[in-house]
Amino acid sequence: MNKVTQSERLHISFLGKRNVGKSSLMNKFIGQDLVIVSDIPGTTTDPVKKSMELLPFGPVVLIDTAGIDDVGELGEKRISKTIKVLTESDFAIIVLDSQSELSEKEKNLFDEIRNLEIPFLAVINKSELGINFKLIEQLKSLSIQFHSVSCYKEEGIYELKEKISKLLPNDEDTPLVSDLIKQHDVIVLVVPIDLGAPKGRLILPQVQTIRESLDVDAIVIVSKDKELRSALNKLKDKPKLVVTDSQAIMRVNADVPDEIPLTTFSILMARYKGDLAEYVKGLKKIEELKNGDKVLIAEACTHHAQEDDIGKVKIPRWLRLHTKKDLEIIHAQGHDYPENLKEYSLIIHCGGCMLTRKMMQQRIKQAKFSGVPIVNYGVAISYMHGAIPRALEPFAEAINEWELLNKNI
Ligand code: SF4
Repeated sequence: MNKVTQSERLHISFLGKRNVGKSSLMNKFIGQDLVIVSDIPGTTTDPVKKSMELLPFGPVVLIDTAGIDDVGELGEKRISKTIKVLTESDFAIIVLDSQSELSEKEKNLFDEIRNLEIPFLAVINKSELGINFKLIEQLKSLSIQFHSVSCYKEEGIYELKEKISKLLPNDEDTPLVSDLIKQHDVIVLVVPIDLGAPKGRLILPQVQTIRESLDVDAIVIVSKDKELRSALNKLKDKPKLVVTDSQAIMRVNADVPDEIPLTTFSILMARYKGDLAEYVKGLKKIEELKNGDKVLIAEACTHHAQEDDIGKVKIPRWLRLHTKKDLEIIHAQGHDYPENLKEYSLIIHCGGCMLTRKMMQQRIKQAKFSGVPIVNYGVAISYMHGAIPRALEPFAEAINEWELLNKNI
């Protein structure tokens, strides 16, 4: 069974006008009738997701969407959902009908995709009905790569999968921790088991850090914060790196000797999925907050808040204590990330472990576009607890940004 989480899979969306065969193509892609197909335009209303192994590339999520030419009030809502899917996609397949020329809506869609810098491929469906030279000429004049298929005759699908596997962006170069350690290095991970810790398991950033460390043949030691000092005393050689949960940073900072590099899971995630330098820049705003300013605390997934919940309770408390300001704190969870961010003075975002890199980048882009500084939980917590710049030291670009900023704070 493949256990890759959806957040680690590349997202491929199928877009196009109604009745061009998006759902049929996605069904042929996965080899099963997941999506209802009919000749009635607009059969797909909400985005439909399916995880699959796209060989030779690897695990992906396919998303079928409503037509970009959907009509009526409901249609408008579906189109905006389709555009949201597009902004979060790593790759887009634009399905065209071999019997039609490019419409204005399709041309606008290509423009939109290019603006968003999303790699894409046009797929001309219904090739069994003949070649449309005018359509091909139009695509060539716009320098759009295309591929022809017949879902009806099941022709060209295998070749399409092979082609897409080669065109998909490869994020393998983005390390979580493997560039900071090497074979036989000891890495110590500090995992407090408090009320907020999920029962019987570790959270994704912790699991991923363990896995990446093992992949480079490093030696991983996992300890709770209370046992950390004892764990360090038992080691013959100094560890190459200590990584802690952000919430334990104060205690861990005091317990780990200065010569041992220390950072947090959240800072590793900031670099892996977010933009660490941008988050460090965002710290300046914490010092500039005024009474009445609105701060958005955003979490990418929904969960039942515990008594001393990090986003709902601890961060607001630390922020008010640090700034001594009367702030208006607004919470957003899951897909409720607001479209309009301009009313906020600062965004404090969770690590985004359930989001794909593309989705997290999109949220950062949205904040930058709105001119709103953004930080993530770990960077903000380490800052408010006086553990920055130590927690940034392993990362040259972040420390540069910090030094620049420090001159202005
Ligand atoms: S997506 Fe955010 S809120 Fe959800 S578990 Fe990951 S870091 Fe926590």
